[in-house]
Amino acid sequence: MAQPTVQTISEAGVVGAGGAGFPTYVKLSAQADTLLLNAAECEPLLHKDKEVLRRYADTVLEGMTIARELIGAEKAIIGIKEKYRDVIALLSSRLPERMAVAPLRDAYPAGDEFILVYDVLGRVVPPGGIPLAVGAVVMNVETAMNVAQAAERPVTEKFLTVAGAVAEPVTLRVPVGVTLAECVAAAGGATVPDPNYIVGGVMMGYLEENHDALVDKTTGGVIVLPDGHVVVRRRRQDWPQITRIGRSACDQCSFCTELCPRWLLGHPIEPHAAMRSLGFNQIGEANVVGTQFCCECNLCSLYSCPEDLDPKNVCSQNKQRLAAEKKRWENPPFLPQRAELHLGNRKAPMARLMQKLGLRQFRNVGPLSETLLPTRKVGIKLKQHIGAPCEPAVQPGDQVVKGQIVGRPPVTNGKPAMGVPVHASIDGAVTTVADGVVWIES
Ligand code: SF4
Ligand code: SF4
Repeated sequence: MAQPTVQTISEAGVVGAGGAGFPTYVKLSAQADTLLLNAAECEPLLHKDKEVLRRYADTVLEGMTIARELIGAEKAIIGIKEKYRDVIALLSSRLPERMAVAPLRDAYPAGDEFILVYDVLGRVVPPGGIPLAVGAVVMNVETAMNVAQAAERPVTEKFLTVAGAVAEPVTLRVPVGVTLAECVAAAGGATVPDPNYIVGGVMMGYLEENHDALVDKTTGGVIVLPDGHVVVRRRRQDWPQITRIGRSACDQCSFCTELCPRWLLGHPIEPHAAMRSLGFNQIGEANVVGTQFCCECNLCSLYSCPEDLDPKNVCSQNKQRLAAEKKRWENPPFLPQRAELHLGNRKAPMARLMQKLGLRQFRNVGPLSETLLPTRKVGIKLKQHIGAPCEPAVQPGDQVVKGQIVGRPPVTNGKPAMGVPVHASIDGAVTTVADGVVWIES
């Protein structure tokens, strides 16, 4: 395989495959001493990273070597849960030079970048910072695989786990642009009437009412849940309900803060203090200014709070308001020693989290199906990454082939906006370009 460069990685449309879709070329343009592969995969019922590693270990390791060399790192480390002993043994037998495996506890949120950096390197990312601030670049498993293949083929496929109330939980390989419903059908279909789709994971994902919503480069999983399931009910609570119940029931026990992963890293986020703002119509800036450091892991709302209140949403509402008002806490207080004192003994064990969320009734497996899901129609979103949405590079009636660019980031004054191109994931004709989507049918 030809060695990809930062430019080819950009042209291939590689973005973070496990989260918000940060363009990988930007990350790989930095210099750091360590590359971390985030294989922690701590969202309950998701299995794709471990399955991809098991099946495509050599490709992922090759992508890690390329990324490590591009950022000039001395070493690369794979953070993976210790319970996946067979995958760790497989990787350990193939590790190239300057690469190691770091086994992680089965806890949530092991895959939060800041927690991963601390667990593996013992370094604490400061509030408002990124892992690069402490010399680390963090990369998702599938992203590393896409880096390895970037010189040969652009990103046109996605792996995702379909689990929960489905006949056959599975990790699928699908063309970018298929619908969630096609994925659920490929998992044998829902086993409950009126299924609900949680996209991305029960902790940090969202309830998608449109079952024909499109898979993009960041879709990591679909969890199907019955109506009335606790996770669905919590997602359906609206802001007036959250504030009314929170205002009357929060007894300021502070469990939400004591178990908050970012507070445990010494960041000045205190969800119990943010809850106080509900009683004062969000007045009381001192209580809420730290919410800008909330990573929205949802641990406080779905695990820590004994009264099932929703401090996460109170934090994220305040965070959005602070961002809209362009309020930033410069030089916030930072107590990194708190991590050493408390983080190790305050992690949320995955078994207990699954129990609390009513997920133990579902099979916790997701074997990889290597066959590419067949489809005759895809919708390629023009925005699948952080940065500017792409502008269409095709129009209705055009014939396209798989891998062809169908959208490019806009160029202003000769300078392209941050972003990466998007590509056709099947051969066919462009039928429609509308509402930020290029539709292709074979
Ligand atoms: S854990 Fe719940 S009850 Fe306790 S302070 Fe936080 S929101 Fe209030
Ligand atoms: S969602 Fe809750 S637990 Fe997670 S970082 Fe925000 S305040 Fe802390």
